[in-house]
Amino acid sequence: MVQTHKYDVVIVGAGGAGMRAALESGQRTRTAVLTKLYPTRSHTGAAQGGMCAALANVEEDNWEWHTFDTVKGGDYLVDQDAAEVMAKEAIDAVLDLEKMGLPFNRTEEGRIDQRRFGGHTRNHGEAAVRRSCFAADRTGHMILQTLYQQCIKHGVEFYNEFYVLDLLTKETVGGVKVTGVVAYELATGEIHVFNAKSVIFATGGFGKVFRTTSNAHTLTGDGMGIVWRKGLPLEDMEFFQFHPTGLAGLGVLLSEAARGEGGILRNSENERFMERYAPTIKDLAPRDMVARAMANEVREGRGAGPDKAYVYLDLTHLPKEQIDAKLPDITEFARTYLGVEPYTEMIPVFPTAHYAMGGVPTNIKGEALADNHTVIPGLYAAGEVACVSVHGANRLGTNSLLDINVFGRRAGLYAAEYAMGIEYDELPEDPEAQVVAMIEQMRDAGGSERVAAIRQELQATMDINAQVYRDEGSLKQALSDIEGLKARYVNVSVQDKGKRFNTDLLEAIELGFLLDLAEVLVVSALARNESRGGHYREDYPHRDDVNFMRHTMAYRQEDGSIRLDYKPVVETRYKPMERKY
Ligand SMILES: Cc1cc2nc3c(=O)[nH]c(=O)nc-3n(C[C@H](O)[C@H](O)[C@H](O)COP(=O)(O)OP(=O)(O)OC[C@H]3O[C@@H](n4cnc5c(N)ncnc54)[C@H](O)[C@@H]3O)c2cc1C
Repeated sequence: MVQTHKYDVVIVGAGGAGMRAALESGQRTRTAVLTKLYPTRSHTGAAQGGMCAALANVEEDNWEWHTFDTVKGGDYLVDQDAAEVMAKEAIDAVLDLEKMGLPFNRTEEGRIDQRRFGGHTRNHGEAAVRRSCFAADRTGHMILQTLYQQCIKHGVEFYNEFYVLDLLTKETVGGVKVTGVVAYELATGEIHVFNAKSVIFATGGFGKVFRTTSNAHTLTGDGMGIVWRKGLPLEDMEFFQFHPTGLAGLGVLLSEAARGEGGILRNSENERFMERYAPTIKDLAPRDMVARAMANEVREGRGAGPDKAYVYLDLTHLPKEQIDAKLPDITEFARTYLGVEPYTEMIPVFPTAHYAMGGVPTNIKGEALADNHTVIPGLYAAGEVACVSVHGANRLGTNSLLDINVFGRRAGLYAAEYAMGIEYDELPEDPEAQVVAMIEQMRDAGGSERVAAIRQELQATMDINAQVYRDEGSLKQALSDIEGLKARYVNVSVQDKGKRFNTDLLEAIELGFLLDLAEVLVVSALARNESRGGHYREDYPHRDDVNFMRHTMAYRQEDGSIRLDYKPVVETRYKPMERKY
C-alpha cells in the first residue's frame, strides 16, 4: 500500500546541512525531514576538527583573508561570490550555534577558542592563523546534537529510516519543476509519496566509491544519483579530496586538528618532509598538497613499515595534557585500531578518500541548476551533495562544517519562502511506479551477481586508478572496469526477499548510485587534461588556466552515455596565481 503525505518543504537528509535547513524552514512553514539514518547518526557527527570563522578571538583575522584562503586553497576553481558569502556569514553561523547551546572549547577569558588548520592563513599567506572553532575533536557530533534538539523544539517532523529513491517532477514551459519525492520505509517495506512545493537534497557525499575512505558505510551518493538519473547535471565530479591522515591500511580519519595542534609528518628517515614541499606553512599546507607529498615519499622509497607503505604522524612532542584536552578521540582511535600509543609512539598514516568537492550545482541561494544558469523551481541542495562552488578543486579543512551551516540555512530559508508563495502542484499519475518497478525487479531477480563482490571490485579499481595520482591510462582502466561492473550489476540479486528491514535490497540500490557516480567522476577526470587541486594528472602535471579554468558540467543522456559541458568560474577580486605555501 502506498501512503501519501503533503508538506510545503521536504528535506532529504538529516546531517548538518539538512537539519540547519530544517530549522530555518520549520520556523516558517510545514517541514518534514526524511532520512535513511537516525538524524544523530549522520556522517556530520563524525567530523572532528572544527568549523572555521574569522572571529579573531585569539589573533588578528578577518573574513576577507578567509575568502582569499578559500579561493587559493581551491586552486582558483572556487566561485568567488559564493566564497565571500560563506566567509562573511561564517561569523554569525558560529555565534548562532553558540546561542543554541553548542559547547565550544573556550579560551581562558571565556571566548570561543580557535586553532590552526591547513591553508588558513593571516594576511594572504604570511603565516598560519587560528580560525577553527571546535569542541575538542567532536565538533560535528556537537553540531548534530545541537541542531537536532533545536529542530525538535521547533516542531520539525522527522521520518527516520526512510530512503528517498526518486524525485518527482513536472514538465513546464521552461523545463521541469519539482512536485515531491518517493521514499521506501525500511521497517515495513512500504512506499511513501511526499507531495511538496520545495525539496531540499542534503544527502551528503559518496566516499564509498573508494575502498580506503574516511566515509561512513552509508555515504553512497543517493541524492546525486537521483538527480543524475533525472538528466540533471553534476558539477566538478573529478575533484575528490584525499585527506592526508587516515590510519594506514584502514582509512579511519585522524583529524587535521592533530597537525593544527602541532603534530608533524615524518618519513622513514625521521625527516619532517613537508619542509621541502611547503616551506612556509609545512605540515599545514592544504590537503591535496600534503596528500601528494606523502604519496611521493612512499613512491621514492622513504615510506615506513614492513612494506614502506606509509608515513608517520608524530605527536610525541606534545604535552599529554594538550593531547587529552584537544585530541582525545582521535588518539583513542590510534590505540584501538593500530595498538599505537600516541604519547610515546608515532602513528602510521596514509591518505584516505574523504570529501566530494563536486555535486549538484546550485547558486548561492541553494537553488539547484538545470544547466549553467537555469534554476529548477522547487529544487534545492546544500552540504556535501551540492556544489556551490565554495571548495573549487580542493576544500580547506573546517570549511565543510561551515558550508553546511551557511548554505543549509540559506537553502532552508529560500525553500520556505518559495513554498509559501505558491500552491501545490498535482502529482503525476502513479508517482511511485518507477520505484516500485525498481524494487520488484531487484527483489525478484534470480541473477547470479552479488552486491558485495561488485562493490569490492569497484572500490578496488577506484583506489588503484583514480586516486591521488591519475593519468589517462589509469582512468581508462577504471572506466572499462566500471562499465564491466555496470553490465554485471543488471544481474545482481538480493538474498533477502522480505519486506521488513531489508537492508540487503537497499545496499543493492545504493550500489547502483555508486556505479553511476564513479563513472561520472572518471569521465570528468579523463577530460580534464591538467592538474588542479585534488585532481592530479601525471600526464598533465601543471595547471592550465587557458583551457581549464572552468567547471565541468556532466549530463546523463537518454541512452545512458555521458555528455560533458563547461561553465565559467565566477571571479570577483582574486586573479589566479601560482599556489605556493
Ligand atoms: C571522519 C570525518 C571527519 C570530518 N571532519 C570535518 C571537520 O572537522 N570539519 C569540517 O569542516 N568537515 C569535516 N568533515 C566533512 C564534513 O563532516 C561533511 O562534509 C559534512 O558533515 C556533510 O554534511 P551533510 O549534512 O552534507 O551530510 P551528512 O552529514 O553525511 O548527512 C547526510 C544525510 O543524508 C541522509 N541520506 C542520504 N541518502 C539518503 C536517502 N536516499 N534517503 C534519505 N536520506 C538520505 C542520511 O541519512 C544523512 O542524514 C569530516 C568528514 C568525515 C567523514
